[in-house]
Amino acid sequence: MNAETQPCAQCGRVVPTSSMVYNGQAQLICMTCESDAQFAEASTKSMIQTAISPPLLALVGTMMFCVPLLSLIVPLICGIMSMFASVQAIRMGMDNSRVGATDRNQPLLLISGILSALWALGIIGVQILSYVGMALMDRF
Ligand SMILES: [Zn+2]
Repeated sequence: MNAETQPCAQCGRVVPTSSMVYNGQAQLICMTCESDAQFAEASTKSMIQTAISPPLLALVGTMMFCVPLLSLIVPLICGIMSMFASVQAIRMGMDNSRVGATDRNQPLLLISGILSALWALGIIGVQILSYVGMALMDRF
């Protein structure tokens, strides 16, 4: 090993030092490991977003019931969007082969997806009931 090459701290491959970068732990790693790490980090971030958006949409939908006029349609839209986001989260949670999938975020995705799907169903149900209620009020 001369001054121009070094083993990568992660994969052990000996590569030119000029093509190496420091990772978060101040270890020199090769570009392949660096891009893998970035990809995994991006995947973890997108998984967190996928886990958070269904309950967030359901929460917005629930709050919109309290806003005059917006309460007529926005909760339904949020409920449907939350439903789709929940399905996405559940599917991601069941896919263990995914990059960034860990024992910690998989159950989180599943729980978030299932609870939000139920929540979204409730919102959609209440919204439809309110339509039925309004329709009945129009008739009498
Ligand atoms: Zn490497």
